[in-house]
Amino acid sequence: MKSEICLLQQTVRFDREATIALYRDTITVPGADACTCISCKNFATQRSKLYPGDFLMLLNEPGGDPRKEWEAFDYDFERENLPNHLYGGWFLFCGELIQGSDKRPDHGQTLFAYWFATTFPTATLPKERKVCSVEFCALVPWVLSELPG
Ligand SMILES: [Zn+2]
Repeated sequence: MKSEICLLQQTVRFDREATIALYRDTITVPGADACTCISCKNFATQRSKLYPGDFLMLLNEPGGDPRKEWEAFDYDFERENLPNHLYGGWFLFCGELIQGSDKRPDHGQTLFAYWFATTFPTATLPKERKVCSVEFCALVPWVLSELPG
C-alpha cells in the first residue's frame, strides 16, 4: 500500500488508518463550525464547493476528510465590501514531511493553492502521533448579507 505522496518538491509519508482514526476521534467538528465569527460562517456555508478535484484527490490519499478542515482563517477579515475574501486553512493527516521545505512553493497555482505544512495550531491534538497538514489558500466569495469589519 502506497504511503508516500509527492507534491512538487515536497514528499510526505502518511498513515491512512491513523488519519481515519484521527478524524473519527479528534477532528469531529469542522474548524469553521466550531467558531462563531462571521468569517468562519461565510467559509462554512461554501466549503462543499471550494475545493478543486486535484486537491480532493490529494487529501483523500492519506485519509483526510474535506468536510472537516482543522481551521480556516480569513486574511481579509476586517475589510468590508470585498466580493471575495482570501482564506487560508489546514487539513490534517497522520504523517510527516520527509522531503522539501515547509513553505508555500511558487508553482503558479493562483485561485486555489495548496502545499504540505508542518506549522499549524496543535494545542488540542493528541501528542502520540506525528501529524502533518495540507495548507491551502483560496479566494472565497462573500455570500452573507451581514458584512465583516
Ligand atoms: Zn472564526
